[in-house]
This record gives sequence, C-alpha cells and structure tokens, in this order.
Amino acid sequence: MAAIVYEGRSISDSIAEKIRREIAVQGQAPRLSVIRIGKDAASASYFRAKIRKGHDLGIEVDAHSLPPETSAKEASDIIDSLAADPEVDGIILENEVPEHLSYVELANRIPYWKDVDGATYASLGRLMSGAPCLAPATPLAVMEFMRAMQVPQGSAVAIINRTITVGKPLSMLMLSSNYTPLILHSRSLKIHEITRSCDVIVVAAGHPGFLTPEYVSERTSVIDVGINSRGGQITGDADFESIAPIVRAITPVPGGVGAVTSTMVFSNLMAARKLKPGK
Ligand code: NAP
Repeated sequence: MAAIVYEGRSISDSIAEKIRREIAVQGQAPRLSVIRIGKDAASASYFRAKIRKGHDLGIEVDAHSLPPETSAKEASDIIDSLAADPEVDGIILENEVPEHLSYVELANRIPYWKDVDGATYASLGRLMSGAPCLAPATPLAVMEFMRAMQVPQGSAVAIINRTITVGKPLSMLMLSSNYTPLILHSRSLKIHEITRSCDVIVVAAGHPGFLTPEYVSERTSVIDVGINSRGGQITGDADFESIAPIVRAITPVPGGVGAVTSTMVFSNLMAARKLKPGK
C-alpha cells in the first residue's frame, strides 16, 4: 500500500490562518526585526523570504541589511538597541555572518523572550529545563507533522541528526510531548536495526537519498528534514521513490518540513509577547 503523503502546505496554511485570527483579536500585529550582515546569497534569500512571509501574514518586518564591513561593536549596538526597544517583539540574526564576526556571540545578545529563532543559549537552556521558551523553528515544524500524523504518545522516534539546530532541540520537544526519542549520528552502530524498530524516523543527515528501504518497515512514518540541491533540483534525505511504496507515511521535499519551518518563526513571534518577563 502506498504511503500517506503529508504535505507541508496545508499545515502551514492552517497555522498562518490561526496567526491572522490572533492578530485580528489582538488588534495589533507584532513587530519582527531581521538583521542580515554581509552578502551571503543563502542568507539574502532567507531574509527576503521572511519579509515576504511577514507581509503575507500582515506582520511588519523591519529589515536591517548591514554591509560586510560592519564591526562587532556596530552589530552588537544594533542588536542591543532592538533588544531594548519595547516596540520590537522578535529579533532574528541571519546565521551566515562575515568571518570577522561571531554569529554565536552576536545572537546571544538577543533576550530569550525576543529570540524567535530559538537560537540562543538562554532559549536552548530553557527548552532543556522545561521552562517557557521559543524553540527553534525546524524542530517545531517536525512536531507539527507528528501532530498531523497523529503519532501516539510513547512512540519510538529515531532522529538521524545530533546538531543544535535540529536533533538536540527536537529530542527535547519529543520528550516533552511524551515520545521516546533515539538520537542517531554518523558514529551510531546498527542504525538500520534501530530505525526499523521505531515508529517514526526523522531524517536530517544532509545526504540526498540517504534513507533507503533497508532503514524502514511498513509501519514507519518518515519525516524528511533534509534540503539538498542535486542537479538543480531540491531533494530530501529520503529516497522518496523507493520508500514511499513501503512506509505508512512520508513527507515530501520540497513542500514538506521546509514549508512549515518559515511559518513557525511567526508562530514564535506571536508567542514572544507573552513570554516577556512581567507579562
Ligand atoms: P549537519 O550539520 O551536516 O548534520 C548532519 C547530522 O546528520 C549530523 O548529526 C551527522 O552526524 C548526521 N549524519 C550524517 N551522516 C550520517 C550517517 N551516514 N549516518 C547517521 N547520521 C549521519 O546538517 P544540519 O545543518 O543539521 O542539517 C541537516 C539537513 O537538514 C540538511 O539537509 C539541511 O539542509 C536540512 N535542514 C532543513 C531545515 C528545514 O527547515 N527543513 C532546517 C535546517 C536544516 P555527526 O554529528 O556524527 O556528524
């Protein structure tokens, strides 16, 4: 039997609708500031995508595009002033900064209640300790697919990735939703045996076509986080053609997790106001 294909578009549309309704009730849209430093092409495209998405949701996005020669002091001053500005609800620093700057040092100046990327040590520490926080968008998007797939609590979930942007925060979200996460990585042994015994596989290995039939069974649901460019085409980490006829459910690439990730940033923005200390 062919797998159920879970498209990201319908999930993203329903979250977007919820955001629009909430803004209508509140009577005032939140404000997001996005900072980009330098000329990195990928960063420029993420930057434009956020502005477009904000526009689509009726949310004002202040775009700060800083030149490559921006000093650490200048970048810090801008982040600090946005952090102190009561009119700004969320701040994002695009990840790709020029070599003379440290993304980690700069991003960690963002207070946790404005950290809509969930990227700071404060946000990640709060996520780990179960305190209210904004979690990173990609793991949040994966959790939306878990909900859509109606995966029962307690289910075993293999996560092929141990990075701070995907696997580690995702394992915390899985635990807090009562799933049983198993983190796998390039040094893990008997991966196929482990993944075949799990109900869900979240694959984010960063290798196109990595997940082949030997990793799955007919009761597996696959959530494909991979975004790879192959021959001018965007592909995931699952070999969709060979796996889809076997598994229970699968997400496509493009049009799967990536389509929901950008919306989760704005979902975080809606939650940001409520997180502010004293609220
Ligand atoms: P990364 O830094 O390259 O990490 C890849 C992870 O997969 C590492 O933990 C690595 O293990 C593990 N891995 C690699 N090869 C493996 C193998 N043969 N067996 C088992 N584990 C293996 O990549 P990333 O930045 O986390 O991103 C992963 C993928 O997700 C990329 O395709 C990226 O484009 C995509 N992504 C998508 C979104 C989205 O919104 N959809 C967001 C972020 C990233 P080690 O730690 O041992 O090296």
